[in-house]
Amino acid sequence: MADLLDNLKQLVELDRSFGIEFQGKPAPGQLPPLPSQRPAASDQRPAASSQRPTASDQRPATSGQPSAVPALSGLASADLDAIAVSIAQCRACGLCQQRTKTVPGEGSPTPELVFVGEGPGADEDASGRPFVGAAGQLLDKMIGAMGMKREDVFICNVVKCRPPGNRTPEPDEMAACLPFLEAQLTTLKPKVICLLGATPLKALLGLTGITRLHGQRKEWRGVPVIPSFHPAYLLRNAEAKKPAWEDLKVVLGVLGREPPKR
Ligand code: SF4
Repeated sequence: MADLLDNLKQLVELDRSFGIEFQGKPAPGQLPPLPSQRPAASDQRPAASSQRPTASDQRPATSGQPSAVPALSGLASADLDAIAVSIAQCRACGLCQQRTKTVPGEGSPTPELVFVGEGPGADEDASGRPFVGAAGQLLDKMIGAMGMKREDVFICNVVKCRPPGNRTPEPDEMAACLPFLEAQLTTLKPKVICLLGATPLKALLGLTGITRLHGQRKEWRGVPVIPSFHPAYLLRNAEAKKPAWEDLKVVLGVLGREPPKR
């Protein structure tokens, strides 16, 4: 309980950093509602919650060994549903053996902005949804501070199955899963990609040094890429919150937007 209260306190402090009034006071650990459960908005694009495979595809993988490669043939321009189904069936690396659910990602199928994190944690593994724990609540607030809603963007991770104990994915695991992320980005065609932390920076761009490279504009196959810090890192390192907001302003600049007036 003490840890949960600490997380809540950190969220309040970070809210203030991003200029957001803390509202609603969600209970620690409370998951945000599914996009389909949120109030309808006139400008709300359809969220891609239907991109997740059916429950029958999400049974724990407890048998068999990892296969050599994910079943991705012909998926470079496939739709998100097909990619999610392939992810649910994938046994290309050892992370398949302890997963509860695969976590392909969710959000707008036509986003201007895609956030890429590291991998599912316990909450994500249980729910099949990305960024639903304390770090996800902070990411929601960061998106809100940018003048957008979670359902306006697409959120996913480098690896689609939870690394045991929330460890960093191994290089071979990232390499095995990268074709799924590449297929998602190719299909989504965002105007800008924001990388959350060192893992997506390494996986997508082959670069190291997030503390040096954050906020710098890079490119992936012609798409602008802005590296920044992972929200979980911001929860542990309050001093990084201001540079993270500066990174998000760079993202907004790529989109030709100004930060909302406060
Ligand atoms: S982490 Fe990616 S490559 Fe590994 S089993 Fe899961 S979906 Fe397949």
